[in-house]
Amino acid sequence: MAEHTRTTLEPFFEGYRQFREQYFRENKGQIEALMAKGQKPKAMMIACSDSRIDPSLKFGVNPGEMFIVRNVANLVPPYGPDNAYHGTSAALEFAVRDLQVEHVIVMGHAKCGGIHALMQHEHRQDDYISSWMKIAEPARNFALAKTKEPAAAQRICEQEAVKTSLANLMTFPWVTERVRTGKLELHGWYFDLETASLFICDAAGAFKPAE
Ligand SMILES: [Zn+2]
Repeated sequence: MAEHTRTTLEPFFEGYRQFREQYFRENKGQIEALMAKGQKPKAMMIACSDSRIDPSLKFGVNPGEMFIVRNVANLVPPYGPDNAYHGTSAALEFAVRDLQVEHVIVMGHAKCGGIHALMQHEHRQDDYISSWMKIAEPARNFALAKTKEPAAAQRICEQEAVKTSLANLMTFPWVTERVRTGKLELHGWYFDLETASLFICDAAGAFKPAE
Protein backbone atom coordinates (compact mmCIF):
# COMPACT_ATOMS: atom_id res chain seq x y z
CA MET A 1 0.00 0.00 0.00
CA ALA A 2 1.38 3.37 -0.95
CA GLU A 3 2.12 5.57 2.00
CA HIS A 4 -0.16 8.55 2.27
CA THR A 5 1.65 11.85 2.47
CA ARG A 6 -0.24 14.01 4.90
CA THR A 7 -0.42 17.72 4.19
CA THR A 8 1.60 19.72 6.69
CA LEU A 9 -0.05 22.35 8.88
CA GLU A 10 3.19 24.34 8.91
CA PRO A 11 1.75 27.23 6.79
CA PHE A 12 -0.81 27.86 9.54
CA PHE A 13 1.86 27.89 12.25
CA GLU A 14 3.84 30.30 10.11
CA GLY A 15 0.69 32.46 9.88
CA TYR A 16 0.35 32.26 13.66
CA ARG A 17 3.91 33.44 14.19
CA GLN A 18 3.37 36.30 11.75
CA PHE A 19 0.13 37.27 13.50
CA ARG A 20 1.93 37.43 16.85
CA GLU A 21 4.88 39.36 15.51
CA GLN A 22 2.99 41.84 13.35
CA TYR A 23 -0.77 42.26 13.84
CA PHE A 24 -0.80 41.52 17.54
CA ARG A 25 2.16 43.77 18.30
CA GLU A 26 0.80 46.64 16.24
CA ASN A 27 -2.72 46.38 17.70
CA LYS A 28 -1.90 45.30 21.23
CA GLY A 29 -3.65 48.26 22.90
CA GLN A 30 -6.88 47.78 20.98
CA ILE A 31 -6.89 44.04 21.55
CA GLU A 32 -6.31 44.45 25.28
CA ALA A 33 -9.18 46.94 25.54
CA LEU A 34 -11.41 44.60 23.55
CA MET A 35 -10.60 41.68 25.81
CA ALA A 36 -11.11 43.75 28.96
CA LYS A 37 -14.39 45.43 27.94
CA GLY A 38 -15.98 42.58 25.99
CA GLN A 39 -17.19 42.52 22.43
CA LYS A 40 -19.75 44.99 21.09
CA PRO A 41 -20.05 44.20 17.39
CA LYS A 42 -22.74 46.17 15.52
CA ALA A 43 -23.20 43.58 12.80
CA MET A 44 -23.71 39.87 12.50
CA MET A 45 -23.02 37.98 9.30
CA ILE A 46 -24.20 34.54 8.28
CA ALA A 47 -21.78 33.32 5.63
CA CYS A 48 -20.90 29.97 4.04
CA SER A 49 -18.26 27.63 5.49
CA ASP A 50 -16.72 27.47 2.00
CA SER A 51 -12.94 27.91 2.35
CA ARG A 52 -12.96 30.60 -0.34
CA ILE A 53 -15.38 32.76 1.61
CA ASP A 54 -13.71 34.73 4.37
CA PRO A 55 -15.73 37.78 5.40
CA SER A 56 -12.90 39.25 7.49
CA LEU A 57 -10.56 39.28 4.50
CA LYS A 58 -13.14 40.67 2.07
CA PHE A 59 -14.58 43.42 4.24
CA GLY A 60 -11.52 44.45 6.26
CA VAL A 61 -13.06 43.27 9.52
CA ASN A 62 -11.00 43.72 12.68
CA PRO A 63 -11.48 41.71 15.87
CA GLY A 64 -14.63 42.83 17.68
CA GLU A 65 -16.33 44.34 14.63
CA MET A 66 -18.44 41.52 13.23
CA PHE A 67 -20.13 38.52 14.82
CA ILE A 68 -19.83 35.80 12.18
CA VAL A 69 -21.57 32.46 11.82
CA ARG A 70 -20.54 30.21 8.99
CA ASN A 71 -22.50 27.14 7.99
CA VAL A 72 -23.20 25.10 4.87
CA ALA A 73 -24.70 27.48 2.29
CA ASN A 74 -25.19 30.37 4.76
CA LEU A 75 -28.71 29.30 5.67
CA VAL A 76 -30.97 30.45 8.48
CA PRO A 77 -33.52 27.82 9.52
CA PRO A 78 -37.02 28.89 10.54
CA TYR A 79 -37.73 29.57 14.22
CA GLY A 80 -38.50 26.31 16.01
CA PRO A 81 -37.27 25.87 19.57
CA ASP A 82 -37.14 22.18 20.48
CA ASN A 83 -34.64 19.71 21.93
CA ALA A 84 -32.50 19.43 18.80
CA TYR A 85 -29.14 21.21 18.52
CA HIS A 86 -29.52 24.53 16.74
CA GLY A 87 -26.08 26.06 16.24
CA THR A 88 -27.08 28.82 13.87
CA SER A 89 -30.22 29.80 15.81
CA ALA A 90 -28.24 29.87 19.08
CA ALA A 91 -25.66 32.19 17.51
CA LEU A 92 -28.44 34.39 16.13
CA GLU A 93 -30.08 34.58 19.54
CA PHE A 94 -26.81 35.57 21.20
CA ALA A 95 -26.06 38.26 18.59
CA VAL A 96 -29.57 39.74 18.60
CA ARG A 97 -30.67 39.41 22.21
CA ASP A 98 -27.39 39.61 24.12
CA LEU A 99 -25.06 41.62 21.91
CA GLN A 100 -27.93 43.63 20.39
CA VAL A 101 -26.41 43.92 16.94
CA GLU A 102 -27.99 46.52 14.65
CA HIS A 103 -27.52 44.60 11.41
CA VAL A 104 -27.85 40.97 10.38
CA ILE A 105 -26.36 40.21 6.98
CA VAL A 106 -26.97 36.94 5.13
CA MET A 107 -24.25 36.56 2.52
CA GLY A 108 -24.62 34.01 -0.26
CA HIS A 109 -21.93 33.30 -2.79
CA ALA A 110 -21.27 31.98 -6.31
CA LYS A 111 -20.35 28.32 -6.92
CA CYS A 112 -21.67 27.24 -3.50
CA GLY A 113 -21.09 23.54 -2.85
CA GLY A 114 -24.11 23.33 -0.54
CA ILE A 115 -26.42 24.77 -3.17
CA HIS A 116 -24.84 22.47 -5.75
CA ALA A 117 -25.69 19.49 -3.51
CA LEU A 118 -29.24 20.79 -3.18
CA MET A 119 -29.65 21.15 -6.95
CA GLN A 120 -28.61 17.49 -7.33
CA HIS A 121 -30.15 16.08 -4.16
CA GLU A 122 -31.92 13.15 -5.79
CA HIS A 123 -28.48 11.63 -6.49
CA ARG A 124 -27.05 12.11 -2.98
CA GLN A 125 -26.60 9.86 0.04
CA ASP A 126 -25.50 11.71 3.18
CA ASP A 127 -26.23 11.98 6.89
CA TYR A 128 -26.78 15.71 7.39
CA ILE A 129 -26.26 17.83 4.28
CA SER A 130 -29.45 17.00 2.39
CA SER A 131 -31.63 17.46 5.43
CA TRP A 132 -29.95 20.81 6.29
CA MET A 133 -30.28 21.96 2.68
CA LYS A 134 -34.06 21.38 2.78
CA ILE A 135 -34.21 24.91 4.23
CA ALA A 136 -33.46 26.13 0.71
CA GLU A 137 -35.90 23.80 -1.08
CA PRO A 138 -38.25 26.68 -1.98
CA ALA A 139 -35.29 28.48 -3.58
CA ARG A 140 -34.44 25.36 -5.59
CA ASN A 141 -38.01 25.06 -6.87
CA PHE A 142 -38.05 28.75 -7.76
CA ALA A 143 -34.77 28.42 -9.69
CA LEU A 144 -35.79 25.30 -11.60
CA ALA A 145 -39.06 26.96 -12.60
CA LYS A 146 -36.98 29.80 -14.14
CA THR A 147 -34.43 27.70 -16.03
CA LYS A 148 -33.24 24.14 -16.51
CA GLU A 149 -29.70 25.26 -17.41
CA PRO A 150 -27.66 23.97 -14.40
CA ALA A 151 -25.22 26.88 -13.89
CA ALA A 152 -27.93 29.52 -14.29
CA ALA A 153 -30.34 27.61 -12.02
CA GLN A 154 -27.63 27.30 -9.37
CA ARG A 155 -26.95 31.05 -9.38
CA ILE A 156 -30.65 31.86 -9.13
CA CYS A 157 -30.96 29.34 -6.29
CA GLU A 158 -27.93 30.82 -4.47
CA GLN A 159 -29.52 34.28 -4.54
CA GLU A 160 -33.04 33.08 -3.81
CA ALA A 161 -31.79 31.06 -0.82
CA VAL A 162 -30.50 34.32 0.70
CA LYS A 163 -34.06 35.66 0.47
CA THR A 164 -35.42 32.45 2.00
CA SER A 165 -33.03 32.95 4.94
CA LEU A 166 -34.10 36.59 5.30
CA ALA A 167 -37.74 35.44 5.40
CA ASN A 168 -36.81 32.79 7.98
CA LEU A 169 -35.09 35.44 10.12
CA MET A 170 -38.48 37.15 10.38
CA THR A 171 -39.96 34.00 11.97
CA PHE A 172 -37.85 34.61 15.12
CA PRO A 173 -40.07 36.73 17.40
CA TRP A 174 -37.18 38.76 18.87
CA VAL A 175 -35.91 39.52 15.34
CA THR A 176 -39.34 40.65 14.11
CA GLU A 177 -39.83 42.82 17.19
CA ARG A 178 -36.48 44.58 16.73
CA VAL A 179 -37.00 45.06 12.98
CA ARG A 180 -40.47 46.51 13.66
CA THR A 181 -39.10 49.01 16.20
CA GLY A 182 -36.18 50.01 13.99
CA LYS A 183 -33.47 48.54 16.23
CA LEU A 184 -32.40 45.92 13.70
CA GLU A 185 -31.96 45.85 9.93
CA LEU A 186 -31.71 42.71 7.80
CA HIS A 187 -29.56 42.58 4.65
CA GLY A 188 -29.09 40.10 1.80
CA TRP A 189 -25.69 40.08 0.10
CA TYR A 190 -24.17 37.88 -2.61
CA PHE A 191 -20.46 37.57 -3.35
CA ASP A 192 -18.88 36.39 -6.59
CA LEU A 193 -15.20 35.76 -5.89
CA GLU A 194 -14.32 35.21 -9.54
CA THR A 195 -14.77 38.93 -10.19
CA ALA A 196 -14.55 40.07 -6.54
CA SER A 197 -18.07 41.47 -6.90
CA LEU A 198 -20.55 42.12 -4.14
CA PHE A 199 -24.27 42.35 -4.89
CA ILE A 200 -26.85 43.78 -2.50
CA CYS A 201 -30.47 42.66 -2.41
CA ASP A 202 -32.72 45.72 -2.85
CA ALA A 203 -36.22 46.25 -1.46
CA ALA A 204 -37.72 44.65 -4.57
CA GLY A 205 -35.58 41.53 -4.08
CA ALA A 206 -33.13 42.18 -6.95
CA PHE A 207 -29.38 41.80 -6.39
CA LYS A 208 -27.61 44.98 -7.54
CA PRO A 209 -23.80 45.57 -7.66
CA ALA A 210 -22.47 47.34 -4.57
CA GLU A 211 -20.71 50.70 -5.01
ZN1 LIG B 1 -21.28 27.86 -0.02
